[in-house]
Amino acid sequence: MKRILLKLSGEALAGPKKTGFDEATVMEVARQVKVLVDEGIQVGIVIGGGNFWRGRTSENIDRTKADQIGMLATVMNCIYVSEIFRTAGMRTSVLTPFECGSFTKLFSKDRVNKYFDRGMVVFMAGGTGHPYFSTDTATVLRAVEIEADMIFLAKAVDGVYDSDPKSDPDARKYDEVGIQEVIDKKLAVVDMTASILCMENKMPMLVFGLNEKDSIVNTAHGKFTGTKVLV
Ligand code: UDP
Repeated sequence: MKRILLKLSGEALAGPKKTGFDEATVMEVARQVKVLVDEGIQVGIVIGGGNFWRGRTSENIDRTKADQIGMLATVMNCIYVSEIFRTAGMRTSVLTPFECGSFTKLFSKDRVNKYFDRGMVVFMAGGTGHPYFSTDTATVLRAVEIEADMIFLAKAVDGVYDSDPKSDPDARKYDEVGIQEVIDKKLAVVDMTASILCMENKMPMLVFGLNEKDSIVNTAHGKFTGTKVLV
């Protein structure tokens, strides 16, 4: 694979604290991504916002405004992780689908290609730029747009299960699962909008646990122990 899109959930950045940033967790992600970049793999990154805010967090304020706060949370996350990546020796850029002054640059496919050619890691922050969407959908959308070979979905759980492994001791992990089955059984991989986009555009996903040792590097090197979502 030449070009991947890595999705990190906001919660994953928070580590055991569950909110804000856990620097040790992010530095470990940086160490692993650098291995891939040094091998010439182009890495795009989308990050969620759940460590700060979700549109659903408040039932009282207007959903569009609440979602705007959520999108800004993803921008904060990307700026933070981008800076940690720089301290780890990588060149990075943060792109958004809306103007953030001098904090970021506007997303475009041409810009992504230009930065990848320069060996940079490209953060695609701000979700889709629209309310009522999620960073899952932004992940698939950006992966399709930039013609990524596949999505690396790094999650708190180590793959896709037929039921919730936290509450069901008999939950069975899939080695492989078709995207149609994910949709039919509403399996917790990505949300429905993202799943449909994935299916329609035949974008494969590798789902694995971020907290498993070397999971990002192992996934890229074919030593994959999570779930492959087939399209
Ligand atoms: N969000 C949005 N549009 C997008 C992406 C994200 O409105 O394209 C907002 C939404 O409020 C969401 C929050 O940003 O709850 C954080 O994104 P994430 O995907 O982490 O949220 P989750 O899926 O966990 O709600």
